Amino acid sequence: MRTLASKFFLELLELSVRKIIMETLLERRTAHCRMALRFLACMKPASTTKRPPCVGAFFLPALRRETNRPRVETRKISVMDIRGRTAVVTGSNSGIGLGIARQLANVGVNLILNSFTESPDDQELADGLAREFGISARYIRADMSRPEDCRALVAEAAACDILVNNAGIQHVAPIEAFPVERWNSIIAINLSAAFHTTAAALPGMRDAGWGRIVNIASVHGVRASPYKSAYIAAKHGIIGLTKTVALETAEDPVTCNAICPGYVLTPLVEAQIPGQMDVHGMDRESVVREVMLARQPSKRFATVEQVGGTTVFLCSEAAAQITGTAINLDGGWTAR
Ligand code: NAD
Repeated sequence: MRTLASKFFLELLELSVRKIIMETLLERRTAHCRMALRFLACMKPASTTKRPPCVGAFFLPALRRETNRPRVETRKISVMDIRGRTAVVTGSNSGIGLGIARQLANVGVNLILNSFTESPDDQELADGLAREFGISARYIRADMSRPEDCRALVAEAAACDILVNNAGIQHVAPIEAFPVERWNSIIAINLSAAFHTTAAALPGMRDAGWGRIVNIASVHGVRASPYKSAYIAAKHGIIGLTKTVALETAEDPVTCNAICPGYVLTPLVEAQIPGQMDVHGMDRESVVREVMLARQPSKRFATVEQVGGTTVFLCSEAAAQITGTAINLDGGWTAR
């Protein structure tokens, strides 16, 4: 009886180990599988070649059913592989746009840089990125305040797998003193431009069977501040546009998302620090902590690299089911 019980126990143990092997093979966990095989080899007496029928065989059909159950394939997805795609980044000869372009180039994405300026420096900037990252890069001048320029930018780019709507301007004034032309240009550049470029880029993305649209909104797309009426209206608007495009493309292999940075340390923001120091009679550190980052709990600026890295992630295979979202990159501002 004792021998029968120990035989039964050993058979059961062996079957469990076999089951582990099957599962680890199915899930490609080769290190676990090798360990289980080694254990099995230790259990077998060296001389045994043919084993008599055993008690454990009684459980075999049930175990087979268990291991033959259909499983979810664990395919390795390439988290950041967007090499060889082409990105059009609006407003990308400085600041956040340039930071995004650099992070995309770093993972092998070809670039179309853009701004409204026409200077040899712009193509030189593109050439420099091409040399540095081994990609192709071109500068196309287009004024994002003009609908026809927005659409021409996409047409001239020829390929536009990734569209980053980044160009933006700001003006601060109380609403009754807010200049009408500033309101119009902020709405045109920060909001309407994304409508025109998206409309122009979508047919090509659908034909190519792949596309990513990333709109650079702002924490001001979800929170308001006084004296920034046009900027806040435009940034709230671009989040609405993002959601609508996401729904219209939901069944296509195209995604559309927004990124909402808090304060990002760009040359433009850096240049405001001395003025703020004078106005408030504070040193640099106090002005940054208590004035500029008063509502950013991390008390640190976001960086252009972080905005660029988030853009790369949204373009990756890992983010293929992320669409219609607005990702806050604001050091906790919106957590309040
Ligand atoms: P920036 O001034 O450094 O860059 C703006 C870019 O847009 C430049 O390349 C400029 O040439 C381009 N641009 C301006 N007008 C244009 C036009 N008519 N046509 C084409 N290009 C034009 O500013 P930034 O801080 O890098 O801002 C980039 C985006 O990020 C903007 O949409 C801004 O609202 C958003 N944002 C910035 C911050 C921040 O703290 N810096 C925070 C949240 C969101």
